[in-house]
Amino acid sequence: MMNCPQCGCHSKVYDSRFLAAKASVYRRRICQKCEHRWTTTETTDATARTAPEPTDIEACREIARLTRIMLERATLADSTSGR
Ligand SMILES: [Zn+2]
Repeated sequence: MMNCPQCGCHSKVYDSRFLAAKASVYRRRICQKCEHRWTTTETTDATARTAPEPTDIEACREIARLTRIMLERATLADSTSGR
């Protein structure tokens, strides 16, 4: 839990985004008492990255799906070629 730099009260995160290019997580925080707003950043080591962008996961799944289809078609072509 991060406290407000202005009054020391509890804050909450109202927005966060992951920047793949910088391997950083940006968090927009707002104080629950004085409504002071500020941003915190967390930089992750590229090798220890545990939160890839959703688009990365989608792309990986799509590639895996297409690869499987191509392999299935290749196997089918082999079995129908007569040898
Ligand atoms: Zn505050």
